[in-house]
Amino acid sequence: MEKISSSQRLRTCRACGKKFEYPVKGSAATRHHCDDCVAVPAEMRKILERLNSRVTQLENQLRRLQEKPAAPSS
Ligand SMILES: [Zn+2]
Repeated sequence: MEKISSSQRLRTCRACGKKFEYPVKGSAATRHHCDDCVAVPAEMRKILERLNSRVTQLENQLRRLQEKPAAPSS
């Protein structure tokens, strides 16, 4: 017996990183792309995804640096 909550799932767009709810009635958004990026041509979306993954990496690195400041030893 599957329990499906009535509330929408919050997803992160692969292309722009935006948080969006899915599924939303009347919205063209897919599981991986928000309704903005769904309208973008596939080749362009690929580039957006590449850039977004770099931004995500940088954000993670930044977070790590903030958690553990690189204090000079000695
Ligand atoms: Zn998007």
